[in-house]
Amino acid sequence: MPVTVKTFASSGEAAAALSSDRGARYLGGGTLVMRALNEGDVSISTVVRVTDRALTRIDVSGARVVIGAGVTLARVLAERDLAFLHPPARSIGGPAVRNMGTVGGNLFAPSPYGDFTVALLALDATLSVQGGFGVRDVPIEEFLQSRERQSGALVLSVSCQRPASADAFRYRKIARIKPKGGSVITLAAHLPMSGGRITGARVALGSMAPTQMRAKAAERALEGRSLDASTMAAAAAAAAEGSSPADNALASAWYRREIVGVHLRRLLAGQE
Ligand SMILES: Cc1cc2nc3c(=O)[nH]c(=O)nc-3n(C[C@H](O)[C@H](O)[C@H](O)COP(=O)(O)OP(=O)(O)OC[C@H]3O[C@@H](n4cnc5c(N)ncnc54)[C@H](O)[C@@H]3O)c2cc1C
Repeated sequence: MPVTVKTFASSGEAAAALSSDRGARYLGGGTLVMRALNEGDVSISTVVRVTDRALTRIDVSGARVVIGAGVTLARVLAERDLAFLHPPARSIGGPAVRNMGTVGGNLFAPSPYGDFTVALLALDATLSVQGGFGVRDVPIEEFLQSRERQSGALVLSVSCQRPASADAFRYRKIARIKPKGGSVITLAAHLPMSGGRITGARVALGSMAPTQMRAKAAERALEGRSLDASTMAAAAAAAAEGSSPADNALASAWYRREIVGVHLRRLLAGQE
């Protein structure tokens, strides 16, 4: 089946093209879209591209960092001011995938992918989304919950607060093939401290539900506590609560439920 490629100078025109055609798919780095096309996915009849430079901009000048949706994972790794996001970016694929794959595309990557998005969820990121309605800011958690209904929307950028210290943000990906490979479980935790106590704990998990999820019971176990052994044990015990893990060739749902607490405790303890 022939595929039409439409290139637009503005994100508004691209969003209009996406929302008016069910067969239209936005092309980020194409690591998933092009694979689908090459494998004969006939649901894609039009590929939409945007040349607007705003999509590839990184702004790290303030406490809040803004990353264009078209920024590649390799560019994240090249940006010293985004050091807190280097571990999730580095955990994705090999160099060829990171050279092409984008932050925006990762938001839509199905399990066992979407590792960068786990980090963004723990950081309470906000997405700037262009739709037929104009541009609006959407909290990442809300976006992920309705991701399947976002097919006509174009993500312009993601923004998040920079963690207060290197220790406040932690990331860990469990995979069978290292350093790359699909996720058995991906974990990220943001642990802002005030007076020795955790305030605003966020724990995000990948491969523990159809989309990335927050481990809210673990967050409650951490909130207002100091990060000691009993707090870590309580968070680990609550890690699987509310999850519905993937059951696939990488690991069974049972296995994921069994090990998520072990890896959360190691993440919190700062163990390799
Ligand atoms: C060999 C291989 C290994 C991989 N390993 C990993 C891995 O370890 N971890 C991981 O997380 N991923 C992995 N991936 C998946 C993928 O490469 C990444 O998730 C990447 O970030 C996807 O970005 P992309 O720009 O290439 O997406 P694309 O293929 O361009 O798009 C993917 C989807 O997102 C939509 N989309 C893209 N950008 C936007 C936007 N701005 N607004 C709206 N919709 C958009 C597209 O329409 C499409 O539906 C791997 C892929 C391959 C082929």
